[in-house]
Amino acid sequence: MTLPPHLGIRESHLTIGGIECSSLADRFGTPLYVTDQDRIIAKYRDYHTALGSLYPKVQVLYAAKANGNLAIIKALAREGAGADVFSSGELQLALAAGIPCEKLLFNGSSKSQRDLRLAVEHDIAVSVDSLDELFQLEQVAGSMGRTARIAFRVNPALDVPTHPKIATGLATSKFGIAHNLIPSAYREALGCTHIRPAGIHCHIGSQILDLEPFRKAADVMMRIVADLAGMGIELDFIDLGGGLGIPYRHGTETAPGPAEYAAAVAPIIKKGTESLGIDPELWVEPGRSLVADSTVLLCRVNSVKKAHKNFVNVDAGFNLLVRPVMYNSYHEIVLAHGVNHIPEETYTITGPICETGDILASDRHLPRIKAGDLVAILDTGAYGFSMSSQYNSRPRCAEVLIHDGTPALMRRAETVDDLTATMRTPPWLS
Ligand SMILES: *Cc1c(COP(=O)(O)O)cnc(C)c1O
Repeated sequence: MTLPPHLGIRESHLTIGGIECSSLADRFGTPLYVTDQDRIIAKYRDYHTALGSLYPKVQVLYAAKANGNLAIIKALAREGAGADVFSSGELQLALAAGIPCEKLLFNGSSKSQRDLRLAVEHDIAVSVDSLDELFQLEQVAGSMGRTARIAFRVNPALDVPTHPKIATGLATSKFGIAHNLIPSAYREALGCTHIRPAGIHCHIGSQILDLEPFRKAADVMMRIVADLAGMGIELDFIDLGGGLGIPYRHGTETAPGPAEYAAAVAPIIKKGTESLGIDPELWVEPGRSLVADSTVLLCRVNSVKKAHKNFVNVDAGFNLLVRPVMYNSYHEIVLAHGVNHIPEETYTITGPICETGDILASDRHLPRIKAGDLVAILDTGAYGFSMSSQYNSRPRCAEVLIHDGTPALMRRAETVDDLTATMRTPPWLS
């Protein structure tokens, strides 16, 4: 198995950021998410450098939904990152992390009046998903005596090779406005009094390992930008969204990195904007490709059972990592204190949730495992903790961040008191 540079093997013990996973599990308890901050920052710099070498003005917006821990957003904010936020909560976290308003884009296909007001109040650009939303925003901004900066979300009608639940640019998807209707949407925006068209936006899906769909989307976007230029609309930014995948199957899968991605899309935007004589900023919104491989989920083995299959029952399930169940995703799993021990058994790794489907990995060849052992699930930094739940009344686990060889809590584990903190007793039960 190939490991990214922040993971290592020391006398067959898995290390992250130079620290043995078993010592982290002993110190902080399990289950435990452990993230290497320096890995995330290195990826961010890769994006910024690669795009910046091919296009004069670049802004990398971190897609905060991939991993919403404030510490991670802060670390990226210090590097100069912006953020793509998809809810008022993410917006407020991004502001709390110190990301300036002009580096934020408020996305979403179903924003409330309160969401729109918050965006206008902070002068945050809004990705508008429908004409209905445009006219609501016009009203909200008008009532506040302000002007809202907008970008329409383009649906480029691209069939993207990924899991259907995360293909967002299909003609049939709930997201965006059909690309052929975009010029008329901007015409509507020009007719508004409290709206200023500031940019244009698309996002075609997630875990995309092929560069061709990104090229096609960039082409579609450039054609629209040319149409808009013809209408006299000059944009501040062209936002190509996120979606670059990572190789979850180590050794057998490969994925283009930020440099290859930049080489695929930036020249299309450069050529197009130069020929139009305009110089908008180029924005991208990576989530998964920034944070996914930075993190391991450490789980303790509760019991091992030989039944229909060889089950390894661990202390984390789809309450903490829903991807295998939701998207049928593959994550590498290793025995944390015997990474390169010889595989002797075929195991199915199951969680503690009362659902037959609570399976994290099926039929993996692993060294012999016994109760008390520690297993590490790799590449869990994106859509891991951020999609967790308290199902089965299981308090969520802690998260540790490592920087420069030092681990520290970035989220304490919840307790049963946290579960009940928001519950209220109706008067007839007290
Ligand atoms: C989720 C999302 C992203 C990030 O997608 P990744 O696949 O994690 O890179 C970017 N932009 C928008 C609008 C999104 O919804």
